[in-house]
Amino acid sequence: MENTTTPTYLCNVEFDWHYPGQPESTVVYERYFESDSADTDDVAKEFIESFIKNYQIGVCTTSNIKVIEVKRVLTFDDWVEKYNPVKNKISESNSFEGYAFDYCNDCGDTDCISCMEWSFVKNQAPDTVWTMVAEGDDFALISGFHWVNRHCYFVSSKPVEKEDLSTVYTVI
Ligand SMILES: [Zn+2]
Repeated sequence: MENTTTPTYLCNVEFDWHYPGQPESTVVYERYFESDSADTDDVAKEFIESFIKNYQIGVCTTSNIKVIEVKRVLTFDDWVEKYNPVKNKISESNSFEGYAFDYCNDCGDTDCISCMEWSFVKNQAPDTVWTMVAEGDDFALISGFHWVNRHCYFVSSKPVEKEDLSTVYTVI
């Protein structure tokens, strides 16, 4: 299958910013950035070009631009493309593009939608189940059944590959 998702990088750059009449200040600029460039030096260049002009307006200047880090990040979109998840047909929720399944701790209510979703997930092969965990305001998707900080579950149509057993897919 052709790769359609643009790779995402977490880029971190530091530079000195000078505004005449003010002491020089060091700016740390960190953002997620998408790029099709093959090597990280090019990604860093594109990243810097994408925002540095905002700091060079009028009499303001920048100097000592340093690339601290350019790191490939695997995203939820990368995961969708690779694992082709199953849509949740039990509830109408559009949460996570309609792929998320809720859970319930056997509340005993026979009409409980969350219980139905959870029992569907529990009946899947464990190597096709993924857990969305909340980390503060961020979400990350990991392979398998997890309980701590769980937010919802996903079911993929392909079993997890060995290389992804501890991969963290970030929701951006
Ligand atoms: Zn329930």
